[in-house]
Amino acid sequence: MSDCLFCKIVRKQIPAEVVHEDEQVLAFKDISPRAPVHILLIPKAHCSGLNELTPDVQAAVPRLMEVAARLARELGVAESGWRLLSNCGADGGQAVFHLHFHLLGGRPLGGMVGRG
Ligand code: AMP
Ligand code: ZN
Repeated sequence: MSDCLFCKIVRKQIPAEVVHEDEQVLAFKDISPRAPVHILLIPKAHCSGLNELTPDVQAAVPRLMEVAARLARELGVAESGWRLLSNCGADGGQAVFHLHFHLLGGRPLGGMVGRG
């Protein structure tokens, strides 16, 4: 999608600290990290979020999980623990409407859901 921020990162029109790239998946450091390890994993094909999964993107999700687990090991948080999450829609706190998963770790992350 031409005006999508993460599509622009895929096309290298906006810089990002890429930590993994393959045919289906791109992973890069979050620009505003909430934890010592904060990586965003995205399918390269555009999809606004989990409400709008396309067959192409759905096929990339298992690969994305595999990459997340590998990055967690490489970044040294596999043993200490980490979290993979995707915010969906307004109540989910989604700000960027290209499907992405946050890989977070490197400190105790606390309860799963805040009080809002
Ligand atoms: P979400 O609230 O789940 O939509 O998360 C969007 C994430 O994208 C936030 O954690 C932002 O810090 C991150 N973000 C926004 N712009 C960029 C960028 N140019 N490069 C890397 N991460 C970004
Ligand atoms: Zn996009």
